[in-house]
Amino acid sequence: MEAGVELYRKVHQIQSLYNRRNLFQYLFLARNVCLLDSGVAETPQKAILPYLDELKVKPEQMTIFITTHPDFDHQGGNAFLKEVAPRALLGCGEADRAMVEDPRTLYDLRYNFLRNEHGVGFEADPPRDAGKRCPVDIGFSGGETISLDEGWQIEVLHVPGHSHGHLALYDRQNRAAFVSDAVHGRGCPNADGSMGIPVTYFYVDKYLSTLRYLETLEIESLYSGHWPVMHGEEVRDFIADSRRTVELIDRVIIASLHRTAGGVTLRELIEEVSCAMGDWPKDTQNLAMFPVKGHMERLETQGKARIINRVSLTKWTVN
Ligand SMILES: [Zn+2]
Repeated sequence: MEAGVELYRKVHQIQSLYNRRNLFQYLFLARNVCLLDSGVAETPQKAILPYLDELKVKPEQMTIFITTHPDFDHQGGNAFLKEVAPRALLGCGEADRAMVEDPRTLYDLRYNFLRNEHGVGFEADPPRDAGKRCPVDIGFSGGETISLDEGWQIEVLHVPGHSHGHLALYDRQNRAAFVSDAVHGRGCPNADGSMGIPVTYFYVDKYLSTLRYLETLEIESLYSGHWPVMHGEEVRDFIADSRRTVELIDRVIIASLHRTAGGVTLRELIEEVSCAMGDWPKDTQNLAMFPVKGHMERLETQGKARIINRVSLTKWTVN
């Protein structure tokens, strides 16, 4: 089931399902026609183009594509979209450019970078869903504005944590933020509301600063890559919940390091953290490798943990 809905004047949310979760793209339909994220490889044909057709918009009318961050469910459709709208410019966070451009690089640098030392990762080769290689035209670093119509600009925000260059769009006039996967709550839900996957932030301090930054903005409506639409207090609760989750994960990891004299592996820590969270499904809990490794790097930097074994799998202990 795919569908689109007008959120407010000239701004649309396009919805499809991917692995039980909602996958959202956003369409700004003005003098510039801007599409935020492109889904997996088949999303343009399955959801985006049919919705454009419903609105009587031709694909070649699109002028700007923005990929918020390097993940195949947000960039997989880029190459196809460039084929149907060759004059449109593709942008992403400059810091993420190499991974957004090339699924191979995405797999090597983001999904499988822990395989050798920690024995966790994904399949070696990018799946079909990751789409084809696609060059990026514009690298954003946050602070830019895009003029959609006369008198209507949206701001490009740099909201790192889930990736180095993660972008969000902010429509100040309408107090709406389009944050994709910049904020994680305590995990990402399936479309039916049950828990789908763990939080997947990685750069912990940057993530915390992003949460703080979003709290300084006037946000009445929060639109994301997979989470339900949130308004008012829900937005503030979601951000607070995200911060609490960071604190909880940190506490669980530190307690585990103290308890285990011989050191703990990344896998063991993932298990501990998942157990403490309670509702992360078994079959997706490995995705917690991102935050757990992120917390370990932070604890090392803070002098609170150190690596004691590099012979087989890396183990950490308290400092
Ligand atoms: Zn995502």
